[in-house]
Amino acid sequence: MQQYFDIRAQYPDTLLFFQVGDFYELFFQDAVVASKFLAIALTKRGKCNGEDVPLAGIPVHALRHYLTKLVNGGFRVAICDQLTEATPGTVVERGVTQVLSPGTLTDEQMLDEKRASYLCSFYATGDKWGMVFSELLTAQLYATTIPAGAYRTLEAELARFFPDEIILPSDGPKGHESYFKKLGYWVSKADSLGEKRADAHVWLEQQFDEQSRARVDSDRALSGTFSQLHQYLSNTQQQSLSQFKKVQFYEPGDYLLLDEATQRNLELVKNSQDGGRTSTLLSVMDVSKTAMGSRLLRKWLLRPLMEQSAITARQQVVQALHENTRLRGEVGKILSAMPDLERMVGRIALRKAALQDFLGLRDALVLVPVLRVHVGQLQAPLAQALHGHLQEKAQLRELLQAGLDDSPGTQRVVKPGFDFELDKLRDLVDHAEQKILALEEAEIARSGISSLKIRFNKVHGYYLEVTKVQAGNVPDDFIRSQTLANRERYTTPALQELEREIVHAQREINAKENAVYEHIKEAVREQQGELRRLAGSLCVLDALHSFASVAAEQSYVCPQFTDGRDIVITQGRHPVVEQHLDSPFVPNDTRLVDEESLLVITGPNMGGKSTYLRQVALNCLLAQCGSFVPAQAASLPLVDRIFTRIGSGDDVAAGKSTFLVEMEETAVICTQATERSLVILDEVGRGTSTRDGLSIAQAVIEYLYTRVQARCLFATHYQELTLLSDQHTGIANYYMASQQEGERIVFLHQIAPGVAAGSFGLEVAKLAGLPKEIVARAGELLHMPQAQMPVAPAFIPAQESVIEQELKKIDLDELTPRQAFDVLWKLQKKVG
Ligand code: ATP
Repeated sequence: MQQYFDIRAQYPDTLLFFQVGDFYELFFQDAVVASKFLAIALTKRGKCNGEDVPLAGIPVHALRHYLTKLVNGGFRVAICDQLTEATPGTVVERGVTQVLSPGTLTDEQMLDEKRASYLCSFYATGDKWGMVFSELLTAQLYATTIPAGAYRTLEAELARFFPDEIILPSDGPKGHESYFKKLGYWVSKADSLGEKRADAHVWLEQQFDEQSRARVDSDRALSGTFSQLHQYLSNTQQQSLSQFKKVQFYEPGDYLLLDEATQRNLELVKNSQDGGRTSTLLSVMDVSKTAMGSRLLRKWLLRPLMEQSAITARQQVVQALHENTRLRGEVGKILSAMPDLERMVGRIALRKAALQDFLGLRDALVLVPVLRVHVGQLQAPLAQALHGHLQEKAQLRELLQAGLDDSPGTQRVVKPGFDFELDKLRDLVDHAEQKILALEEAEIARSGISSLKIRFNKVHGYYLEVTKVQAGNVPDDFIRSQTLANRERYTTPALQELEREIVHAQREINAKENAVYEHIKEAVREQQGELRRLAGSLCVLDALHSFASVAAEQSYVCPQFTDGRDIVITQGRHPVVEQHLDSPFVPNDTRLVDEESLLVITGPNMGGKSTYLRQVALNCLLAQCGSFVPAQAASLPLVDRIFTRIGSGDDVAAGKSTFLVEMEETAVICTQATERSLVILDEVGRGTSTRDGLSIAQAVIEYLYTRVQARCLFATHYQELTLLSDQHTGIANYYMASQQEGERIVFLHQIAPGVAAGSFGLEVAKLAGLPKEIVARAGELLHMPQAQMPVAPAFIPAQESVIEQELKKIDLDELTPRQAFDVLWKLQKKVG
């Protein structure tokens, strides 16, 4: 228990799993908490200060199952393993081998295979915030700084990376922790840096090039965030530190800026119903064959490019795969059989790989040469670069093929025939077992006891066993070792000698097999840099193959980029909506050019306005990811930001009302959009009274048009806004066409120049099944002159005021001017 207490003190805020033989045991409060959460038995073991010590335990082999539950449930878990063999009379040495928290998981079964797991280190100085996003399994580090207080940028970056865990300084500003928690992130605290900064400095010197170091050193926010990351990982994942070799410094604006609201509104990777993957852009675009390809494609959709040459490089590979159906099929077939090499190599580098990972690597290396030949045929510079990275690694492949044993049911790790020494030892054991059988036969013959058996158990080793009845017939040199109810057990000098031989050989086999296996592992680890590049290339190839497959299956087209700012899309479609319709999707054109740079779009409810707005944004976004787009033709500029304000959503958790959220998001757009941005506004101003809403909407349009000059689509039910086109030449009116057929309205989903006849809200209400009485009454109200609306008599019985009653009493025909003055004087007195 002393040992337990010592270790316990070093790992506060964790549940400590303490290995005791075949079990992990939890004591005291840990036991109480874990037993409740995992629904396992709570017992007690011994006493401490006169009190029972609560105990809960799980078998070692079931660890993973329980860990997944605990970490997903919000616990940090420290695993304390036995480090030496148990020998009677001594305390086994123990130590914490890993601390698990959401951002430091590496185990296949505990990670979402379709999403990268990031750990974010956040560090604030007076004027700047520093952030490093690290991915343990790919050894990638993305670092950036943003101005202190730039919450919108912070939220956009967090939404892009969606880190599983955020590390904050334990002595940092109080508000930060609750802020991140409110956003739903898991927060961990790093110890205060103090003299640990020096260790971090050594780490930076060892791992990174001069330029990166200088950049970190010269920036307090960056050096704080790196020191903090180092400090946290050295406590929990020491072995991971040496694998980081490169830092990717970036500015949020290096990628197409998509604020958090835009990512949400466009349903890029999460839908707005339940936050799941269905009905998202990702669900349509991702037909990747491997999980690693899926993860990369997700990253791409959240980080579209701003550099023309990088976009073109991807486009060319997509084009080449798109054109060559046969080649696309071949590449797809091979990728389908490819294991998740990226994570396997990650675990190998972290020394956390299991045999399965090495076997996976072997299988991957068998597939690579054929894939390489196909990729070599693709006429695109990026494909040629990938071809260069898809190295055959023939020697390594042969080593793994010859060395690792995965024949069904085998206990072996190393294949027979691979290591001469090992084979010799195995032979000895096999031989010894034959010798046991021979000895058994000889003892049966010598004693005349035909039921005599030589058996083995873990406690007593080998022994001779006869029934009680036969015990009198055993030879004199049999030494009794154990008496059971109706059996006797013996040993003999010959059996003891043989046993020594077998046990010794078995131990040697284990040691030798471990050594050979370790040698193979080391040979793999030596090449981890190249293997990472290989895995990275496979990810890129798979993601591009996915783009090409979607393009071919869904008839997408390669967009052209122009230097100007014109967005011209012919027969564009919404990539997600078109997949979920029973009837055909109606494609629509878009021309956002200097002469018509802001479109006010009206149309009935359900007419397709939102769909149209989003499809324009998604076409631009997909194009900058290097993908083809759902259209017949597209000529697009490089946009720097896409902003969308679609629908309205309460952020009650953050204490914000619908309208406040709407206005905050609109404010971000008005202040951050540039003339190279695409702004999509859907019914801005609807969350308040009509007059207020209309005024705000008009002012926003005017501001975006005259000041920001961004390309903008503005959908609205306020017909009044269509008058703006008379005042500004570049504002144009469009509407979603519909047709009245008798009582019914038919939505044509076709965009046309002009203004819609109305919103047809009542027809939609009818469609939605609103009770007939309500629809009829709404119809009456709709056709009433507006001045009468607020005192609709059937609903609000009029309450006459005293003044009104007085006024009614007056007979004007009889009233003299003098009396009229008196009446007026009285009334005025009444109202004080
Ligand atoms: P509201 O004003 O009520 O928000 P809206 O005009 O924004 O409505 P959307 O939500 O875009 O309408 O579209 C309503 C439905 O119409 C979609 O869910 C889809 O089923 C269908 N739809 C939209 N656009 C098209 C299209 N181009 N082709 C076929 N169907 C479409």
